[in-house]
Amino acid sequence: MVLKNIKYAVKNIPKKRVTRLCPEVESPLSDRFRGLQILDKSKCIGCGICANTCPNNAIKIVKAPIAPGSSKQRWFPEIDIGHCLFCGLCIDQCPKGALSSGKEYTKGMVKWAHKDLLMTPEKLAREVDIKEGDEK
Ligand code: SF4
Ligand code: SF4
Repeated sequence: MVLKNIKYAVKNIPKKRVTRLCPEVESPLSDRFRGLQILDKSKCIGCGICANTCPNNAIKIVKAPIAPGSSKQRWFPEIDIGHCLFCGLCIDQCPKGALSSGKEYTKGMVKWAHKDLLMTPEKLAREVDIKEGDEK
């Protein structure tokens, strides 16, 4: 039995590996994959429909600059990704098409502290590098 297993293992050494390291090696994603949401600030009207739709209460409407460095502020969604189940309802219900699905699902999103799971409008709009994160 043991010899049979060793023989099987040796026979498979030259074969291409079928497993991959996660999260170091990312899996290929389908077009329909729902990762971290992307916010288009220019389309968002701050109506709060996304927040009212969210079954997990993961969205809050908060004030944020309309563009990086701008002193002008408007209302935008902020998503607590720790409570998000990536159902996509916020995206489907947005009347302006301001939200879409991104491909991020590990880098920038796997955090130790709950505060770091808050995806601010700036992060959703990718105005800051979410992969670097803000953990101190
Ligand atoms: S993302 Fe869409 S649904 Fe949410 S506040 Fe902006 S416009 Fe309204
Ligand atoms: S994907 Fe679903 S759970 Fe996540 S914020 Fe949108 S509506 Fe809420």
